[in-house]
Amino acid sequence: MNAANKKPPLDHAEAAKASLEARRSDLADRVASIERSRRRGDAPLSADSEERSVERENDEVLDRLADTTRRELEQVRHALDRIHAGRYGVCERCGQPIPAQRLRAVPEATRCSGCADGARR
Ligand SMILES: [Zn+2]
Repeated sequence: MNAANKKPPLDHAEAAKASLEARRSDLADRVASIERSRRRGDAPLSADSEERSVERENDEVLDRLADTTRRELEQVRHALDRIHAGRYGVCERCGQPIPAQRLRAVPEATRCSGCADGARR
């Protein structure tokens, strides 16, 4: 396999590393603050049934937001692992280089567009 022997362009990794590290701490802060809000949501529900359903909805929104943020954080951490392993910019599925255009748009991408689409299906 020729692609596996090709060194990923280091400048991509260096450029992405700083922005991914910034994203990682930003996302970690967001997860922490969502969890703080959610804990207040665990307080006894209001006696008023209409208010109660609003409170439950708020909790659900926060739970979904926390899930999404955690998944994003995981992906960013994963991309940083790939940088540390010297494999950044190489699709972890097919081993082909991920186009620079995609890395600029999605710095946390660890798969090329084709493989990412395939995984979603
Ligand atoms: Zn691929």
